[in-house]
Amino acid sequence: MTGKESTKTNKNQNNTAALSPANYVVCEGIETEVKTKNNLTIKEVSGKGKKEDVKIDIVVNYCKGCEICVAFCPEGVLVMNKEVAEVVDISKCTKCNICEYLCPDFSISVE
Ligand code: SF4
Ligand code: SF4
Repeated sequence: MTGKESTKTNKNQNNTAALSPANYVVCEGIETEVKTKNNLTIKEVSGKGKKEDVKIDIVVNYCKGCEICVAFCPEGVLVMNKEVAEVVDISKCTKCNICEYLCPDFSISVE
């Protein structure tokens, strides 16, 4: 793991200042593009999945850190990172969309 360590959590969805890209760790070896759109911070990871190209977006502001996506991803693609879901190995992703279907906060999307 590299990057700055966060001292804040994302529990407060309106606290966008705490969600700046510098406030969470980006997993080593994973190309993560951090975008800001409509005051939302979105982590976008693209790459070659198990079957085809895949893009996983995680809206940091909406993620409440429930870990459901991490627990139910059958391929171990996701981990928790500072109470926000994070892609750790996109090459295993089969685009099954289970994480997207189960996320209660519509925070993660796979295409
Ligand atoms: S299921 Fe949704 S809210 Fe829960 S950790 Fe995953 S992305 Fe975040
Ligand atoms: S689409 Fe399926 S394999 Fe890919 S991260 Fe989500 S649950 Fe895991």
